[in-house]
Amino acid sequence: MAQRLTATVALVTGASSGIGEATALALAAEGAQVAVVARRRDRLEDLAARIGDAGGRALVIEADVTERQQAEGAVATTVEQLGRLDTVVNNAGVMLLGPVVDAPVEEWERMLSLNVQGLMYVAHAALPHLLQAAADGPREVADLINVSSVAGRVARNGSAVYNATKHAVGAFSEGLRQEVTQRHVRVSLIEPGAVDTELPDHNRPAIREHLQQRFADVERLRSEDIADAIAYVVTRARHVAINELLVRPTEQQ
Ligand code: NDP
Repeated sequence: MAQRLTATVALVTGASSGIGEATALALAAEGAQVAVVARRRDRLEDLAARIGDAGGRALVIEADVTERQQAEGAVATTVEQLGRLDTVVNNAGVMLLGPVVDAPVEEWERMLSLNVQGLMYVAHAALPHLLQAAADGPREVADLINVSSVAGRVARNGSAVYNATKHAVGAFSEGLRQEVTQRHVRVSLIEPGAVDTELPDHNRPAIREHLQQRFADVERLRSEDIADAIAYVVTRARHVAINELLVRPTEQQ
């Protein structure tokens, strides 16, 4: 049975585009007030206006979550302005593919600092508030959603470091799940297949071209498909924890 998110507060990282943007809209539609976090303020303002037009409330927080103080500040501002924190969607991520040999190591640093370290900063800052919400919040349960990938399950030639970051998200999530689940903080891993977003655009041109060819015959998921999955996970009754969800396009092998 579904439980709506009325009177709860959610924080979504990477909400200025793609999966994060769709997730913020979906959680707002379930009744949550939503703090939307990313670096592109104009995109966040536009999203907040749309949430407001639909009768919801969003708080814009411009932050680079790879900077520990900004990640912690995003959580603190949410609690100061919206009063509590029940749901966190750790979604911000970057995927820079290519062979390990001769790779620009700066790309690895970007992936590790966002996909792993930034996600951990946000989780660490949010956990005391999530534990509090689980103890005395309207739903007596709280949710930390970590967005991994099919790449967090299956490693591929040409994707080794992205695979490493997403496998790290899986390991972190499972260890943390065991730590906090008896206190009713549910830690869930979402593993999308190919979704039609800006994610591939940050790659070097030859890699972008390769990705386009690889998925040319696949009808990719829409961001809303993953937002639906996340909304499903966080609206379960208190005794139901969806630990892991793998969602691929039907045509993806
Ligand atoms: P997008 O590129 O559309 O979104 C990435 C988001 O992360 C943007 O909102 C971006 O906003 C934000 N972001 C990037 N760097 C930072 C930073 N330093 N601090 C705060 N926010 C940041 O991609 P997706 O929506 O596709 O990706 C979302 C997640 O889904 C990622 O973790 C990705 O790995 C995962 N995923 C995506 C798949 C796909 O096929 N698209 C498949 C599997 C997993 P801004 O630039 O404004 O900061």
